[in-house]
Amino acid sequence: MSEYKIESRLAQIGSIEEPVTGAITYPIYQATAFRHPKLGQSTGFDYIRTKNPTRCVLEEAVAKLESGDAAFACSSGMAALQTVFAKFSQGDHLIVSVDLYGGTFRLLEKIMSRFGVTASYVDTNDFDALEKVYQSNTKAVVIETPTNPLMMVTDIEAVASWAKHKNMLTIVDNTLLTPFLQRPIELGADIVVHSATKYLGGHNDVLAGLIITKGKELSEEIGFLHNSIGAVLAPSDSYQLMRGMKTLALRMERHEYNATRVATYLQEHPSVDQVYYPGLPDHPGYDIQKKQSSGNTGIFSFKMKDARYIEPILRHIQLIAFAESLGGVESLMTYPAVQTHADIPIEIREQVGVDDRLLRFSVGIEHVDDIIADLSLAIEMARQEIEGA
Ligand SMILES: *Cc1c(COP(=O)(O)O)cnc(C)c1O
Repeated sequence: MSEYKIESRLAQIGSIEEPVTGAITYPIYQATAFRHPKLGQSTGFDYIRTKNPTRCVLEEAVAKLESGDAAFACSSGMAALQTVFAKFSQGDHLIVSVDLYGGTFRLLEKIMSRFGVTASYVDTNDFDALEKVYQSNTKAVVIETPTNPLMMVTDIEAVASWAKHKNMLTIVDNTLLTPFLQRPIELGADIVVHSATKYLGGHNDVLAGLIITKGKELSEEIGFLHNSIGAVLAPSDSYQLMRGMKTLALRMERHEYNATRVATYLQEHPSVDQVYYPGLPDHPGYDIQKKQSSGNTGIFSFKMKDARYIEPILRHIQLIAFAESLGGVESLMTYPAVQTHADIPIEIREQVGVDDRLLRFSVGIEHVDDIIADLSLAIEMARQEIEGA
């Protein structure tokens, strides 16, 4: 099916694979065990953790979408990351993007560290910094691009080729762009990871993670870990994720359009200090982003001039929900310093700029005029409260 364009492949996930009834959507095989025709024979399915037909259809589609050789659906984005990190052994070292998802930092620092796997955090676009933290036991570079929440952009091709020369793997968390907009394996990455809870699912209603691998050996190794650890995706959630992915192309186009409009509005707002969105030409990552992806995500962050604005803004937004998570059709606003990034020590957070004036905005697919009106009113009410106080 890979000769079709990505929009067609997304819309048709699971649609032409069910040979028995011709069902247009792939059924949920709610079965944990599969009957063997006779001794030494199998239908290809034995036990749910190893393989389930519904999960398989999802995994095959995702492997193609990311230009990988295999894909593994996990029970969450963290489960996907844990399964990948389980590939490393005591004494191994990783180089990781400094501005990264708080849960990934927590997994590395609080759990992997107990198994003797260490990590250094740097701006993965700064080659002097990369060389400086490189050790003879460094096994991989772990990149988020753009990063969450500061939207720092890393040149995947440049880092992957640097890593390859040093015999290291390149692992990319592609949650924010999805394969519709960016395909890291085509740029030289070995492993791609997703929190499919975000844009891939897209409706704030399913928890899921994905791993996509390049090459036979790596695919077999991750497949072994996926089955052995067992943090796999349930058949009903596999269905739910495919259901969401069918509209990914349409949603991403609207997310990008709305985010660009709202980011531009905020950039010109007198109470706003800075907007971090790689879709705006003055963003330092604008050119790299343009080179390596076909568009921009629907999330960005912005910094108010005064921290006193934060509390009343979050209280006065109405259409926009004050909630964690991102990537769904509904607009959500988060306060990273106390929510998603609370597990990152304050020195590291402030060094990269995740401070008490920063808000993260996952712009939904509502009408952009309504989103801007909601935000504009909340900022105005905050201003009046501050000046009246
Ligand atoms: C949410 C998120 C994760 C974790 O995924 P879960 O599905 O919540 O377990 C990892 N990386 C990024 C970039 C995320 O946004």
